[in-house]
Amino acid sequence: MAILDDIKETLTKTTKSAVDKGKKLTDVTKLKSQKSSAKKELTQIYVELGKAYYEKYKDAPAEEDAENFEKISAAEEKIADLEAQIRAIKGITICPACGEENAVGKKFCGGCGAPLE
Ligand SMILES: [Zn+2]
Repeated sequence: MAILDDIKETLTKTTKSAVDKGKKLTDVTKLKSQKSSAKKELTQIYVELGKAYYEKYKDAPAEEDAENFEKISAAEEKIADLEAQIRAIKGITICPACGEENAVGKKFCGGCGAPLE
Protein backbone atom coordinates (compact mmCIF):
# COMPACT_ATOMS: atom_id res chain seq x y z
CA MET A 1 0.00 0.00 0.00
CA ALA A 2 2.80 2.38 -0.93
CA ILE A 3 0.36 4.69 -2.72
CA LEU A 4 -1.76 5.16 0.42
CA ASP A 5 1.39 5.85 2.45
CA ASP A 6 2.47 8.43 -0.13
CA ILE A 7 -0.95 10.12 -0.03
CA LYS A 8 -0.91 10.09 3.78
CA GLU A 9 2.59 11.59 3.85
CA THR A 10 1.62 14.30 1.33
CA LEU A 11 -1.49 15.21 3.35
CA THR A 12 0.57 15.38 6.56
CA LYS A 13 3.17 17.65 4.89
CA THR A 14 0.43 19.87 3.42
CA THR A 15 -1.34 20.18 6.77
CA LYS A 16 1.94 20.92 8.57
CA SER A 17 2.80 23.55 5.95
CA ALA A 18 -0.60 25.24 6.33
CA VAL A 19 -0.28 25.22 10.14
CA ASP A 20 3.24 26.69 9.89
CA LYS A 21 2.01 29.44 7.54
CA GLY A 22 -0.86 30.21 9.90
CA LYS A 23 1.49 30.38 12.89
CA LYS A 24 3.91 32.64 11.00
CA LEU A 25 1.04 34.93 10.02
CA THR A 26 -0.14 35.08 13.63
CA ASP A 27 3.41 35.79 14.85
CA VAL A 28 3.86 38.57 12.28
CA THR A 29 0.49 40.09 13.21
CA LYS A 30 1.42 40.04 16.92
CA LEU A 31 4.82 41.60 16.21
CA LYS A 32 3.26 44.29 13.99
CA SER A 33 0.84 45.13 16.78
CA GLN A 34 3.69 45.36 19.30
CA LYS A 35 5.67 47.51 16.84
CA SER A 36 2.69 49.83 16.42
CA SER A 37 2.34 50.20 20.20
CA ALA A 38 6.08 50.87 20.55
CA LYS A 39 5.88 53.53 17.80
CA LYS A 40 2.94 55.24 19.52
CA GLU A 41 4.85 55.24 22.80
CA LEU A 42 7.91 56.71 21.06
CA THR A 43 5.79 59.41 19.41
CA GLN A 44 4.25 60.29 22.79
CA ILE A 45 7.72 60.61 24.32
CA TYR A 46 8.80 62.91 21.47
CA VAL A 47 5.67 65.03 21.99
CA GLU A 48 6.29 65.30 25.74
CA LEU A 49 9.96 66.10 25.16
CA GLY A 50 9.04 68.73 22.55
CA LYS A 51 6.46 70.34 24.84
CA ALA A 52 8.92 70.40 27.74
CA TYR A 53 11.59 71.91 25.48
CA TYR A 54 9.16 74.52 24.16
CA GLU A 55 7.99 75.48 27.66
CA LYS A 56 11.58 75.75 28.87
CA TYR A 57 12.88 77.87 25.99
CA LYS A 58 9.82 79.66 24.56
CA ASP A 59 10.89 83.01 26.00
CA ALA A 60 14.38 82.81 24.51
CA PRO A 61 14.44 80.24 21.70
CA ALA A 62 17.68 79.34 19.99
CA GLU A 63 17.97 80.88 16.52
CA GLU A 64 17.51 77.49 14.81
CA ASP A 65 14.27 76.90 16.79
CA ALA A 66 12.73 80.35 16.34
CA GLU A 67 10.66 79.45 13.26
CA ASN A 68 9.11 76.37 14.87
CA PHE A 69 8.49 78.26 18.11
CA GLU A 70 6.64 80.93 16.10
CA LYS A 71 4.55 78.21 14.41
CA ILE A 72 3.65 76.73 17.82
CA SER A 73 2.73 80.15 19.14
CA ALA A 74 0.58 80.88 16.07
CA ALA A 75 -1.16 77.48 16.38
CA GLU A 76 -1.89 78.11 20.07
CA GLU A 77 -3.36 81.53 19.23
CA LYS A 78 -5.50 80.03 16.46
CA ILE A 79 -6.83 77.35 18.85
CA ALA A 80 -7.63 79.99 21.49
CA ASP A 81 -9.43 82.09 18.85
CA LEU A 82 -11.45 79.09 17.63
CA GLU A 83 -12.37 78.20 21.22
CA ALA A 84 -13.53 81.80 21.74
CA GLN A 85 -15.68 81.58 18.59
CA ILE A 86 -17.22 78.30 19.82
CA ARG A 87 -17.96 79.86 23.23
CA ALA A 88 -19.55 82.89 21.54
CA ILE A 89 -21.82 80.66 19.45
CA LYS A 90 -22.76 78.57 22.48
CA GLY A 91 -23.32 81.71 24.61
CA ILE A 92 -20.66 80.76 27.13
CA THR A 93 -18.16 82.92 28.94
CA ILE A 94 -15.17 81.65 30.91
CA CYS A 95 -14.63 82.75 34.50
CA PRO A 96 -11.27 84.55 34.65
CA ALA A 97 -10.78 83.39 38.24
CA CYS A 98 -11.46 79.64 38.02
CA GLY A 99 -12.02 78.79 34.34
CA GLU A 100 -15.61 77.60 34.86
CA GLU A 101 -17.96 77.96 31.88
CA ASN A 102 -20.88 80.28 32.57
CA ALA A 103 -23.80 81.44 30.45
CA VAL A 104 -23.26 84.89 28.94
CA GLY A 105 -25.11 87.53 30.97
CA LYS A 106 -24.57 85.96 34.40
CA LYS A 107 -23.17 88.43 36.91
CA PHE A 108 -21.28 85.91 39.06
CA CYS A 109 -19.46 82.65 38.38
CA GLY A 110 -21.44 79.51 39.22
CA GLY A 111 -18.17 77.77 40.16
CA CYS A 112 -16.43 80.23 42.48
CA GLY A 113 -18.74 83.24 42.82
CA ALA A 114 -16.28 85.69 41.26
CA PRO A 115 -17.89 88.59 39.43
CA LEU A 116 -18.13 88.13 35.64
CA GLU A 117 -17.70 90.95 33.16
ZN1 LIG B 1 -15.19 81.06 38.74
